[in-house]
Amino acid sequence: MNSNNFEVIIIGGSYSGLSAAMSLGRSLRRILVIDSGRPCNRQTPHSHNFITHDGEKPAAISAKAKLQVELYPSVQFYNGLALKALKIGQGFEITTESGEIFTCRKILFATGVKDLLPEIKGFADCWGISVLHCPYCHGYEVKNEKTAIIANGEMAFEYAKLISNWTKDLRLCTNGKSELTLEQTETLHNHGVQIFEQEIDFLEHDEGYISNIVFKNGEKVGVKAVYARPPFEQHCPIPEALGCELNEQSLVKVDAMQKTNVTGVFASGDCTTPMRSVAIAVSTGSFAGAVINKELIDEDYAK
Ligand SMILES: Cc1cc2nc3c(=O)[nH]c(=O)nc-3n(C[C@H](O)[C@H](O)[C@H](O)COP(=O)(O)OP(=O)(O)OC[C@H]3O[C@@H](n4cnc5c(N)ncnc54)[C@H](O)[C@@H]3O)c2cc1C
Repeated sequence: MNSNNFEVIIIGGSYSGLSAAMSLGRSLRRILVIDSGRPCNRQTPHSHNFITHDGEKPAAISAKAKLQVELYPSVQFYNGLALKALKIGQGFEITTESGEIFTCRKILFATGVKDLLPEIKGFADCWGISVLHCPYCHGYEVKNEKTAIIANGEMAFEYAKLISNWTKDLRLCTNGKSELTLEQTETLHNHGVQIFEQEIDFLEHDEGYISNIVFKNGEKVGVKAVYARPPFEQHCPIPEALGCELNEQSLVKVDAMQKTNVTGVFASGDCTTPMRSVAIAVSTGSFAGAVINKELIDEDYAK
């Protein structure tokens, strides 16, 4: 057998990809996991809300998962970037950045998304440390603290409602003219949320721990935590290039079995869902692995 030929290639070897690899390794499938080592939570000091690993370093969770998956002899790993994939006959051919070519019968994309952080100075340094994307992941640690939300419009209103579950010491920075309706503005005021429309100049911080939001007019507001939902894009352009449809949120469209619209191509984890969490990435990856194995069994039994 060609040693570069696999039954399944998983592109993306973080939580979702490793979880699928475990399902498939335990199903005796010959698989390759290609990973470029850039998970979206890599800057966060502690990951929360994943039972058995609450509060651990994100890299420690994936390192432990990889150690466990490596014990299955039919699973191989490739550290690097997958550059393109082509449909060849019944299967696929994948080329890496350094020119290696691998073939397979099925592909799983567990490639995550890339957050497009705003240009505000200090934002990127604080991302995942004190500028937070999700209260379920990090809200408990900053409960009742002086907190700001950087957002505008409908999303800002919904976000403020959500975050007020964790702290009442809340303000909204719209970073420019507010796009809230009068009713929304009044509701927020009634709940004690102050609205700042000034444009933000920079975030003052120490090693990613924010102390002040500094506005362009020189005023500042002291906070311990900020919530923001920056836009994102697919981390990996290959699904789209292969013909996988994206939905209106720019996520890879999958059905209830984690199948994309392209036969033989599956996707799991953050690249498919707005519910971004390690637990969900692991869950959808594990399920995708089982579905892929079943599809391989069905195809071989039909021969
Ligand atoms: C700042 C931050 C903090 C977070 N904190 C928490 C938390 O506390 N608790 C929690 O449950 N969730 C948290 N999350 C969400 C969680 O990190 C994600 O839901 C989870 O990482 C998704 O896993 P994934 O495997 O789908 O994608 P990712 O973990 O993003 O991994 C995708 C992998 O695919 C690889 N890849 C992409 N394209 C290619 C390619 N072409 N070739 C090879 N490899 C490729 C990447 O390098 C990466 O390793 C946080 C997210 C962020 C952004």
